[in-house]
Amino acid sequence: MNQERVLTADRVTGKLHLGHYVGTLKNRTQLQYKYDTFIMLADVQALTTHFHQPGLIRTHLREIALDYLAAGIDPERATIFVQSMIPEIAELTQFYSMFVTVNSLRHNPTIKSEAQSGGGEEMYYGFLGYPVSQAADITFCKATIIPVGEDQLPLIELTRKVVRRFNELYRPVLTLPRALVGDTPRLVGTDGSAKMSKSLGNAILLDSSREELELKMRKAVTDPSRVRKGDPGHPDICPVYAYHCCFREEGVEEIGEECRKGVIGCAECKRRAVEAIAQLLEPMAERRAHYAARPKEVDDLLMSGTSRAREIARETMLEVREAMGLDYFAGSTQ
Ligand code: SF4
Repeated sequence: MNQERVLTADRVTGKLHLGHYVGTLKNRTQLQYKYDTFIMLADVQALTTHFHQPGLIRTHLREIALDYLAAGIDPERATIFVQSMIPEIAELTQFYSMFVTVNSLRHNPTIKSEAQSGGGEEMYYGFLGYPVSQAADITFCKATIIPVGEDQLPLIELTRKVVRRFNELYRPVLTLPRALVGDTPRLVGTDGSAKMSKSLGNAILLDSSREELELKMRKAVTDPSRVRKGDPGHPDICPVYAYHCCFREEGVEEIGEECRKGVIGCAECKRRAVEAIAQLLEPMAERRAHYAARPKEVDDLLMSGTSRAREIARETMLEVREAMGLDYFAGSTQ
């Protein structure tokens, strides 16, 4: 396959929600037709914060795989694989960590902000070093395109430094990746928080039933200045309107106008938002049900994706060891 390779990943810490769909998953379903698409179930990275909950990671691995398939990731096109089952990633991480300074990690803006949002607890070695592991994730498969949000750019820059440094120190065998920054806005939570997040309890999961969706929407906050239906509203500060903008093909402007003029009630507006979101989730539910009823098929496609990724990892590792002069017994027959 003579295509550029794109790598995306999800930390295996919980089911995916509409924020993931808008932020990355929808984009992946399109990228898979253009690029050799690799999607990594980042279970090792999940351990950096959930090392005490391996059972949760185990459960969510298959749930997230189902989310992918439900959302339209085609396993015939995309290679879905499990991070911890590619030992070469750990090996590369070890080699790269020899020439990445602790200071460059401590001062990395993404690490700093994630550490702060984690409550500023004592930092674990694995967490501090995860950008090095990420460099290994990207380089083992020679991915050249990494779709990211603005906040992740410093991590991609670190990977690029690792690649340049390795290629200068040893031999140019690693491929320089570039970030593909999406223009999708972050989806707000149902409580009006800037970010939809399962841990904040403000997320609409991709596997929500119609009843769960209606309940979430019923509880969603709206413009607090609207007390009665006739009050003029401010849709731009309302999460429900944000959902109309993201999930409705037509009539968004009209809803905004009706809100501003006070001719639509919030209950009716929410009902319409439920309809728009259900149009996305219902076909997903059908695809999910298909695969959920066939767990062996899901396992088989995860194993086959992992085995394709592993094959590429082995090839990269041979080149890396050769470049570093660590291929002691190359060519010897036993
Ligand atoms: S009418 Fe709709 S957009 Fe306006 S405040 Fe109510 S829920 Fe929000």
